[in-house]
Amino acid sequence: MSSEFQSLIKTLRAGQKPEFPPDARSIDYARQLDSQDKLGSFREKFNIPTRGSLRKKALNGRATAKPTGVNGCNGTNGVKAQKPNGISHANGHTDDDTPSIYFVGNSLGAQPKCIREHLDAHLETWASIGVNGHFTSFEDSPLAAWQDMAADCAEKSLDLVGAAAPSEVIYMNTLTVNLHLMMASFYRPTEKRHKIIAEWKPFPSDSYAIASQIQWHNLSPATSLVEVHPDPHTLYLSTDQILATIDAHADSTALLLLPGIQYYTGQLLDIPRITAHARARGIPAVGWDLAHAVGNVELALHDWDVDFAVWCTYKYLNAGPGAIAGAFVHRKHHDGPDPDGRVGDAGYRHRLAGWYGAEKTVRFNMDKVFAPAEGAAGWQVSNPSVVDLASVKGALGVFGQTTMRELRDKAVVLTRYLEWLLEGLLEEEESGGEQAFRIITPGNPLERGSQLSLLLRAGLMERVSARLAEGGVVIDVRKPDVIRVAPVPMYCRFEDVWEFVEVFRNALEEAR
Ligand SMILES: *Cc1c(COP(=O)(O)O)cnc(C)c1O
Repeated sequence: MSSEFQSLIKTLRAGQKPEFPPDARSIDYARQLDSQDKLGSFREKFNIPTRGSLRKKALNGRATAKPTGVNGCNGTNGVKAQKPNGISHANGHTDDDTPSIYFVGNSLGAQPKCIREHLDAHLETWASIGVNGHFTSFEDSPLAAWQDMAADCAEKSLDLVGAAAPSEVIYMNTLTVNLHLMMASFYRPTEKRHKIIAEWKPFPSDSYAIASQIQWHNLSPATSLVEVHPDPHTLYLSTDQILATIDAHADSTALLLLPGIQYYTGQLLDIPRITAHARARGIPAVGWDLAHAVGNVELALHDWDVDFAVWCTYKYLNAGPGAIAGAFVHRKHHDGPDPDGRVGDAGYRHRLAGWYGAEKTVRFNMDKVFAPAEGAAGWQVSNPSVVDLASVKGALGVFGQTTMRELRDKAVVLTRYLEWLLEGLLEEEESGGEQAFRIITPGNPLERGSQLSLLLRAGLMERVSARLAEGGVVIDVRKPDVIRVAPVPMYCRFEDVWEFVEVFRNALEEAR
């Protein structure tokens, strides 16, 4: 049977869609796939909100169903949380300790248990040695000296984003701030080249950032912003359309800025092909917002010749709400010679500078002249929050116990299983009449990550989402009619997918 899992992966990786056997509609089949899942033990490294904890009205010192002890950090497997069956609680609920179906890791990832240990280590370091923590760390600490924490996190991100060297990555600020800082360096409009090519419906923060950058240069979005539009019915953004838009505006475009995965539809864009095309047409800068792609799909930013990229760490990376964000700057834009002795083609790239962008060894010399650190680190502005970096380090440590390839292997099967069960629901519906929902995420497994966006028939949303919540499902709603369902491979099970579809079927029936 383990070869069945493998053959599913192979078919999906080839961009084809396997059917499942008829018995795949049973929970036993889902459990069988779980038993073959190499990443199954990762679930124990996370605190998944339970049905009881979701109903909590006050803190009670219990973050999970049962205290499980510190675990899950850097390779040690967690102790399995016990799940007592049928125990009555004072509030009358018998399912208090049952984990929720947490399908919202694309919005806020579940908490890795080891983050508590990282935060504790930080608090102890600070309390014990105060300011010396900048340069010293304890030998048994999971943390580096505070000064080295950002670089340490960069080192652990090579596989995540496909960087050629740690110097291409930095953790700093938050996503939108990094987008602004990168645009300050890479959006340098001239009279002739002043346009930004973006997509029709960027995440609002990206829209505001793009428009305000254009205005900052005394230009107007009406003439300097080009939006690529999807098919109006399917919302699919075709690569051909993107390439044609690049062709049409090649001579007047200063920056191409697109999302790796479109947050609303879950479509994964063809980053290498689009980037290469923009490059070939002479567009001076290509940037990607990877908020929904990092930790979700495999990336090779260096090889794809991406100029810059930004991402947050609280979605698929699980570092906690608002945690410090990441940025990538391709080696060719680094100041000075690269490790192979080649000098970047751009020389020094202008940036909005601050003291943390200075070379670490001279940072505390308080020189008046800015001597930037090598690579992406030279874009830092301020002293970063170590609480944040400790969280990111803990979260990246979990990724370090597997690979993006393995996570993606599981994700393609998990997402296809969800899609196949949902297709079954659509077949069950009486023919004629408008269907209760439509999947707007591309059907091609290579054009999506772990998220399926379901467009509900108008008028169903309120009741359906209420029933889902009652059924212990946590998903996210994009008004008016889209729910985004994300069974992330790190901690979600095939059994969860099966159960979600059962709850969803009942919710639709009751909402009708
Ligand atoms: C989540 C997300 C953001 C959030 O930005 P913050 O600056 O972290 O608040 C921005 N852009 C996209 C595309 C996102 O998915």
